Amino acid sequence: MSIEIKNVSKYFNINRKTYLKALSDVSMSIHQGEFLCLLGPSGCGKSTLLRLIAGIETPTKGEIRSNGKVLKGLDTSRGFVFQEYSLFHWRTVRKNIQFGLENKGISRQEQNDITDHYLDLVGLTDVANAYPSQISGGMKQRVALARALCLKPETLLMDEPFGALDAMTRLKLQDELIRVYQKEKITIVFVTHDVEEAVYLADRIAIMGARPGHVKQIVDVAIERPRIRTDQHFSEIRSDILSSFGLGVEKSVTEEKQKVSV
Ligand code: ADP
Ligand code: MG
Repeated sequence: MSIEIKNVSKYFNINRKTYLKALSDVSMSIHQGEFLCLLGPSGCGKSTLLRLIAGIETPTKGEIRSNGKVLKGLDTSRGFVFQEYSLFHWRTVRKNIQFGLENKGISRQEQNDITDHYLDLVGLTDVANAYPSQISGGMKQRVALARALCLKPETLLMDEPFGALDAMTRLKLQDELIRVYQKEKITIVFVTHDVEEAVYLADRIAIMGARPGHVKQIVDVAIERPRIRTDQHFSEIRSDILSSFGLGVEKSVTEEKQKVSV
């Protein structure tokens, strides 16, 4: 599925007289099968843009097309994973994943088969009958991922899905996500404010700025997977992005380049 975002602005009414420009004149394409990260500081409109792509919100100006057609609300071609796990605490892991399949008019057997497949894909078969309160944050986010994937979305929209996890779990889930992405051949739009996470995951990074929210620049990350965070090319891309946010790393980049040229 390719998605075209054309001159999209989103304003929120604060009261009858004032409104807040959350996004201003965003234009970009999302290519079929790519891993795109939306990267920027808090408040720059990342979640708003993702919600517009999901069809949860509608643009104030401009339009978003999916495979050529203007988006009209939510549909199953786009799945969503939020930062907060949003699991049903009274349902087991299995029943949480199965939730979206229950209203699809497919047999119980087929529901079970699909659920088994995704339990296995995200490595949760052993805890299928546990309740959310009995599993770790990382496992909860795997449940949310499996629940979205079992509806077979063409595009998966993820809003800081690893933001609440500890650093080690986060690194592990980044690898898991890449494995799932390569296996399922879906398009992923992934919101983060973590530069390293974006460089590790993305094929392209849309760098956003605030007041009002906009896309400043799109960076290609032409590094083969699996990526190594300490590689020179990786470090260069990360440093370039950090300095585009004014986060004073130019000195070390220059030193790094001098070292290389010696
Ligand atoms: P990010 O995800 O990059 O942190 P958001 O998209 O959540 O940014 O928000 C962008 C701006 O829009 C923020 O100033 C936020 O307060 C505002 N905003 C987001 N949603 C709403 C809403 N429903 N009503 C009013 N303002 C909103
Ligand atoms: Mg957000």
